[in-house]
Amino acid sequence: MFDFWRRALVFPFALIFFALLLWAVAGALPAALFFGIFLLVRLVIHLRQLALLEDWLADPDARAVPDGAGLWEGVFARLNRMMRLNREERARHNAALQHMEQATSALPEGVVMLDEADHIEWCNPLAEQHFGLDCVRDIGQQITYMARQPEFVQYLAMRSFGEPLVLRGVRQDGLTLSIKLIPYSGNKKLLISRDNTRFERIETMRRDFVANVSHELRTPLAVVNGFVETLCDMPSLENDMARHALGLMGEQTQRMARLVNDLLTLSKLDNALNALREETVDMPALLRALYQEGQALSGEQHALRLELESDCAVLGNAEELRSAFGNLVSNAIRYTPQGGEIVLRWQEQNDQPVFSVQDSGIGIAPQHIPRLTERFYRVDHSRSRETGGTGLGLAIVKHVANRHQARLGIVSEEGKGSTFSIAFPARRRLPLGEEFQA
Ligand code: ADP
Repeated sequence: MFDFWRRALVFPFALIFFALLLWAVAGALPAALFFGIFLLVRLVIHLRQLALLEDWLADPDARAVPDGAGLWEGVFARLNRMMRLNREERARHNAALQHMEQATSALPEGVVMLDEADHIEWCNPLAEQHFGLDCVRDIGQQITYMARQPEFVQYLAMRSFGEPLVLRGVRQDGLTLSIKLIPYSGNKKLLISRDNTRFERIETMRRDFVANVSHELRTPLAVVNGFVETLCDMPSLENDMARHALGLMGEQTQRMARLVNDLLTLSKLDNALNALREETVDMPALLRALYQEGQALSGEQHALRLELESDCAVLGNAEELRSAFGNLVSNAIRYTPQGGEIVLRWQEQNDQPVFSVQDSGIGIAPQHIPRLTERFYRVDHSRSRETGGTGLGLAIVKHVANRHQARLGIVSEEGKGSTFSIAFPARRRLPLGEEFQA
């Protein structure tokens, strides 16, 4: 700074000095002329430098910083250095950005950056394929103009950041995408899409295979079972061993038939194309029927009780709910020793309708509880088989609960008993307006 003023003031002081000297020697007029002419020359030099600067500023990226003279030399040199540093900085940023873009292009998932109003800010090549976007052309466009499927639009509007959405039949290629929204930097969002088409195809093949095998086995099993029963009933069958063997064969074929039926039920529930057919389900009536069936199944071995604390109905599928609740009741009977108590309850907890079956049976150790709904998971294999279990009952219950957005709860203590409950979301509750008696 000091250097600048030193250099800036040398010329005016020198000019004043020489002008004063000339005044003393030659008089005021020549001194004034001398002073004026040099001042004018100086002004022209400054204006020329200013013009050069103005000219350069019109397009600083394309032109080189001019070479200044005098005081301007320092200014232009600094500008030049600033521009160089700026260019280097920009080159570094561009390289980092390119690096990031290359990395995100290599991601096995599509990524779209959305602003607060769901406009596209950036996307990677895989997202272009998934949503039919063009990374350059569609920047700034609303994502829902590009991907218009109603489920997707609804998912985006709901801002459900926890749950992924499965979109089937996307675009002409019929892709199956798993989509997830992740919030970042305030109200912005990352839309992550994964192509699950291959996985879905294999899943469908697996499901179809199980369903087809079960279906094919049904008829031969029914025929064998029929013959075994007929043979058993034949009065001419005197051989005890043959009668015993036929009895065992009958039991096993019936067990196989139950397995096949449960597998078919599961495949139906598993099928994504099989949407839930909703109707008003009169729960008190359904529970009364289940209670009667339970009593028949128990054969008066247990004290069965029905507690209808609510008369509300639910919006759901009666057949599926009957199958799920039936499994819970049958389990309670099968895993409760003779003389035990079983309570079927229908109640409301915080606006949520809840069905529960409480038993005083053998109970379940805590380490088994998280795995009970897995297919063929049994705590005690022999007890399950002896009582005619297939190992698929709770898997069916879990599927039915999921299809109704209901929560399956299991509370149990080994040796004391268990309570299995299904809590429906409040929006499935329908008032029945009917008198009831427990
Ligand atoms: P299963 O046909 O073997 O009963 P489920 O899927 O219905 O198959 O049940 C899985 C396992 O959970 C059963 O094998 C049993 O060990 C346990 N279980 C289910 N319900 C009860 C219950 N009420 N009390 C004790 N254990 C139970």
